[in-house]
Amino acid sequence: MHARMLDLIGVPWKLIKHAEDFAGIDALILPGGETTTMLKFLAEHKIDEAIRKFAKENKPVLGTCAGAILMAKEVLNPEQERLGLIDISIERNAYGRQVDSSIREGECPELSQDPVEMVFIRAPIIRRVGEGVKVLGRAEGLPVLVEQRNLLAATFHPELTNDETVHRYFLAKMG
Ligand code: GLN
Repeated sequence: MHARMLDLIGVPWKLIKHAEDFAGIDALILPGGETTTMLKFLAEHKIDEAIRKFAKENKPVLGTCAGAILMAKEVLNPEQERLGLIDISIERNAYGRQVDSSIREGECPELSQDPVEMVFIRAPIIRRVGEGVKVLGRAEGLPVLVEQRNLLAATFHPELTNDETVHRYFLAKMG
């Protein structure tokens, strides 16, 4: 859980359930889950519009796994609704059914000298990275952590390890 990681680092957090909850929020994390379910929830509570506005105001947004899919400009397998915040194309469940979840070591050279432990759960693969998007992390040659200005998207779950690297990098964006 991201909350556990934020508690470890000592940063206050709250759950967003309604568009009004954004008041006083400095940074937003879109967690993992099932994007189909999450999209319904976001639309029903009009949180989709609130997130787009939040991102446009240049406030930091981190999406992990399903969260990264929600943030993408283009979603494949199948094509679906998205927030379209970050200029990447991302393929859902791209490692195939046989690889439901796995732990790999990746590199995020700008964030840490050490290899980063990465947990993948029915993870997507980033198939295209737009011009303004920087690849900050790779595992097995594939981009797994990307950044476009205030936006950070990871295809893995940094909150499921004790490695604070990604969260600390994200939180530093609050300035
Ligand atoms: N498989 C999910 C989806 O495509 C993402 C999985 C996750 O967030 N761990 O929506």
